[in-house]
Amino acid sequence: MNIETKPMEPTADLVDSFSRTISYLRLSLTDRCNLHCKYCMPDDDTKGLQVLQHEDLLTYEELLRIVNIAVNMGMNKLRLTGGEPLVRKGVMGFVASLAKIKGLEEIRLTTNGVLLSDKAVGLYEAGIRKLNISLDTMRPERFKSITGVDMFHKVWKGIETAERIGFDVKLNVVAMKGVNDDEFVDFARLAVDRDFQVRFIEFMPVGSDSTWKEASYISSADLKEMIGKIGVLEPLSGCRMDGPARVYTLDMPDGRQGKVGFISPISHHFCETCNRLRLTSAGRLRACLLHDKEADLKSLLRGGATDEELRALIRQTILDKPKGHTLADDKINCSGQMSRIGG
Ligand code: SAM
Ligand code: SF4
Repeated sequence: MNIETKPMEPTADLVDSFSRTISYLRLSLTDRCNLHCKYCMPDDDTKGLQVLQHEDLLTYEELLRIVNIAVNMGMNKLRLTGGEPLVRKGVMGFVASLAKIKGLEEIRLTTNGVLLSDKAVGLYEAGIRKLNISLDTMRPERFKSITGVDMFHKVWKGIETAERIGFDVKLNVVAMKGVNDDEFVDFARLAVDRDFQVRFIEFMPVGSDSTWKEASYISSADLKEMIGKIGVLEPLSGCRMDGPARVYTLDMPDGRQGKVGFISPISHHFCETCNRLRLTSAGRLRACLLHDKEADLKSLLRGGATDEELRALIRQTILDKPKGHTLADDKINCSGQMSRIGG
């Protein structure tokens, strides 16, 4: 298979019914994970954790074909996520193949950091420069209680390795009242002490077994108020939005500065500027994280579809992208599992 394509301008095919240009593809490489975060993979004693069988995942060859078609349509940004993308066998070779696709300007990765200290150099050499690393606590015991695994020190080593190598690191912190709210200020200080942006994500009720409850939700406005007590938060000029994050400088009384971001899918959703399309680890196209409507790309692909037919399904999914989600109205349309959809 020739995986090279010519650089493309976004085509009209990427414009959805609400005039948004959908140029950003997110691939969930696997629904498996080496952590077991309570809010993402809640335990269900009756069913156990349901994970896909290997043959249910799209192969790397299939994924490369889809990415090529998407890039030909003008998509230029890709994020690898999951589950934990770095646990999938052969992921480094896949990244290297992706990096050869002309027109794909940026490949980003979201990871829990567990395998980063081993894989960071390879990822950098393959051309990845931007990493989102998830970390909800800096306390090893609490880390174990949130993720089910005693891996804080391994993750921290991964974060330090990524920083040292020169990655643009963003630390993602899910803000949960009664779980890690006594660390938000510490995380904000970390953004001042270290060379990475810390981004707080509002806790979302994703999945039918979600542990989300009203009492554990804290809004970005409340978070900002807490962090505003240690320094002055100023919206970053010229870059108000960094993807879905609203980014601020945090000016400390001692003259030092850091960057903190707030991702507010519930209190201040960013649907009107959403440019994303997801391919779930089950091979289904999904236009909105918080709407269950999906298109079965895998069946079409495995049924012998031509590139034109696959492109038409991508086009249709873009056209069907909902205007927005309704989480703030308490109507949850997302019963899918976060790790399968790709967070
Ligand atoms: N395993 C990788 C990781 O943890 O970074 C990638 C997949 S994970 C599903 C992607 C992101 O989704 C993580 O930052 C995680 O904290 C976030 N996430 C998972 N469930 C969430 C929820 N219910 N509300 C808000 N963020 C959530
Ligand atoms: Fe795994 Fe990431 Fe989900 Fe945690 S948030 S269980 S690390 S996929």
